[in-house]
Parts: sequence; C-alpha cells; structure tokens
Amino acid sequence: MLNKLSKSIYYLSNQNDKERPTLGLVCGDKYSLVIDGGNSVQHANDFLREIESLNVPPIKYLVITHAHWDHFLGMNEYNATIIVNSLTNEIINKWRGYSYDDRSLEEYKNSKKMDSLCVDIIKNEIPDRESFQLNASDIIFEESLKLDLGNKVCILERIRSTHTDDSTVAYIPDEKTIFLGDSVYCTTTNSLFHFKQSKLLPMIEDIQKYDAVHFLLGHESICDLDEMNSYWNELVSASKAADSTSLESALESFEADHKRKPNEDELFFLKAFVNDQILKSQL
Ligand SMILES: [Zn+2]
Repeated sequence: MLNKLSKSIYYLSNQNDKERPTLGLVCGDKYSLVIDGGNSVQHANDFLREIESLNVPPIKYLVITHAHWDHFLGMNEYNATIIVNSLTNEIINKWRGYSYDDRSLEEYKNSKKMDSLCVDIIKNEIPDRESFQLNASDIIFEESLKLDLGNKVCILERIRSTHTDDSTVAYIPDEKTIFLGDSVYCTTTNSLFHFKQSKLLPMIEDIQKYDAVHFLLGHESICDLDEMNSYWNELVSASKAADSTSLESALESFEADHKRKPNEDELFFLKAFVNDQILKSQL
C-alpha cells in the first residue's frame, strides 16, 4: 500500500526484513518523479503496480539518492530519465560493469564487492540475471538541479552527509517536504559502524536550510520536525562527548554533561562516533 502525504506526494514504506528502502513519488500536473529505484526488479515492480492504480501523470524522472545497491538496483524498470549526482554516477558505473550470473555473484561476495544480503536479494528478486545490466544515467549534475513537474517544483541537491559522500536530497518547497535518502544515518567501514563525525554539523546545516516539516528517511519512512530536532540534539551531544577513541571517556563525559546515563539510542550514537575516531586514528 502506498502512503499518501498530500495530493502530490506518495511513498512506499521501507521494509526492513527485505532490505527495502522507502521509495517516493512526486506528481506535478504534467509529470511524476520517482525517488529511489528500489533494491531489485521485484521491488520496483511492486511500487509501479501501486502507482498504476493512482491515475497520476507519467513518470518522467527517477532520482537515485546515493549509490547503495538497495536504492538503485530496480532503476531499469521505470523507463524514466535517470538523474544522479556525478559521484553517485561514478560508483554506479562499477555496478554497470558487473555480471549477475551465479559465478560472478559468488566472486563479488568473496571479494567483498557485494555483501551476502545483496547477493541473496539479486538471486531472489532479479529475473533473467544472466543478461541483466543496469541502464546508463541520463542526467548527471554536480551540486543541484531544479525540476518542474508542472506546477510542482522539486529541488535535487547534493548535501554533506554522515552516511556517504554522494548524498542527494529531494526537496519540494510548496509541500515543505524533503526526501533525505539515507543521508542522516551512519555507515560501515571495515566492519565498524560509524557516523562521519566531521560531516555532522555541516549536514545539519545543509538540511536545516530547507523549510521542511515532513522528512522522509530511507529506512524509517516519515519524521516530523520535532522528531528530526530531537534526532539532531542526540547526535550532536553524542558527538561532543565522543572526542577520543575511548568509549569509557565518552560515557563519562556524556554522564557529566547530562547527569544521567545515555538511553539506548544515545549509547548507539556514542559508540558510532567513537568508532569514527578509531577509524580516523588508523589512517
Ligand atoms: Zn545507504
């Protein structure tokens, strides 16, 4: 079932057991824009089937928020103009050179080019894998791009992010709605989860400059302004406390500041920022 946010904005909720991120749909008078292609052919087609029943203008554009497989492997299915920033394009280009037969997939798994979850989804949800190839991007932008869907402007912009260096957000000004992809999440490097600490404050600045009240997240669906603000507060205070590679001293500093122990989320954030310090110290 699609969720309807307004007359012109819909989204298909993330489905964590299938590693499916949130997919968005923005409809103008003339055209529609899809935000993220889905993690497989099947995911994309499940979304397209829902869209068909809406009677909205044709899908003209597809924007990929960043080059993680779960956001783009379904992109061929929309027959749309594919829009990405230049770094996203560079990374997806590697996947355009891959083959998707069993032997190749095993090889990519062993060499860590793909994780095993990704390989399982490809095997189960991409038919005709032997001949599968990702389409080329059609529009590649650097910083930002403005689309007019017919009385519905949508701004695509590359922002600084704790998750990846290639994060694009999609902002719809007259709906005060922004699709953030995974930009506000942590990431994993060498099996350690971490937030890119140096990007935290720049990211918050980049996102807060938009006048938004609805925030769509890749693996959470929707948040309101209060939820986002408390998320920023927790992240910032965890980042402040985590100023070395020691979790113990981060906890001490947090407890001294707040006169209490961190809750479960805060503890996760503290660990993630300490992990980032550890990764930085290994450079
Ligand atoms: Zn991601």
